[in-house]
Amino acid sequence: MKKLIVGNWKMNGSLDANTALVAALLQDTQAWACDVAVCAPAPYLAQLHTSLTGSRLDLGAQDLSVHESGAYTGEVSAAMLKEFGVRYCIVGHSERRQYHQESDTTVALKAQRALAAGITPIVCVGETLAQREAGQTEEVVKRQLAAVVHANGHCISEIVLAYEPVWAIGTGKTASPEEAQHVHHVLRAQLQAASQHADRVRILYGGSMNAGNAQALLAQADIDGGLIGGAALQAAAFLSIVAAAH
Ligand code: PEP
Repeated sequence: MKKLIVGNWKMNGSLDANTALVAALLQDTQAWACDVAVCAPAPYLAQLHTSLTGSRLDLGAQDLSVHESGAYTGEVSAAMLKEFGVRYCIVGHSERRQYHQESDTTVALKAQRALAAGITPIVCVGETLAQREAGQTEEVVKRQLAAVVHANGHCISEIVLAYEPVWAIGTGKTASPEEAQHVHHVLRAQLQAASQHADRVRILYGGSMNAGNAQALLAQADIDGGLIGGAALQAAAFLSIVAAAH
C-alpha cells in the first residue's frame, strides 16, 4: 500500500510563511514514493488551493462542522472545504477532543460529513498517559474507533485512521516502533471485523515523528504513514520524513 505522510500545521502560518514553505516542499516532488498532504488553518485554504493545484502535494483541513449548513456561527462545512480543493480533513484530533470537548459521537459524525462531501477524513484516536499507565490503551482506541465504525458502516474502508498517543504529541516522546505497531495491529483487526476492504485503510502514526525516528516507525507492518505536527513546519524535516516513506 502506498504510504501517506500528512503535515498538520495546527494554528501556525501566515501568507508569507506558507508561500515559502510550499515552495520548498514542491522543489522535488518527483522523488516522492508516497502520497503527501498538508492540513492548513481554514483561512489559508484558498491560498493553498491556488498554489497546490496541479501539484503532487494534496490539501487538507484540520476540522469541519458536524452540521451541513445554517445558523452555526464560526463553523466551516464540508461542502465549503470541498470548494477549496480539500482532499483530506483531520477529525477528532486530541487537541479538539481535549480543548473543545469533542465526543466520540461528534467525531464519528464529522467523519460522516466529510465522507458525504467526498473528503477523506483522517480520524485520530489515541490514549492519554494516564490511560496508558492504567493499561487502558486498547480499550480507549477501540472505543474511539467503534463510534466511527458504527456511524459509517461499510464506508469505513474510505477513511484514513491515525493512531496518536496523546502523551507523544508535541512532547518529543514517541511510541517505540513495537508499541505503535501493536496498537496499529489491534486497530487493523477491528477494521477487518467491520469491512472486508479494511486492508486498504491507511493507518498513520502520529506523535513526535521526526527525521530521526520515521524510518523505524514506517518499517512496521501496519504503519502506513505519518501525521506530523511540529516537524511539518520545517521543509527539510518534513521532506526527510517523506523520503523515509516508501
Ligand atoms: C499532531 O499534531 O498530530 C502531531 C503528531 O504533532 P507532533 O508531531 O508535533 O507531535
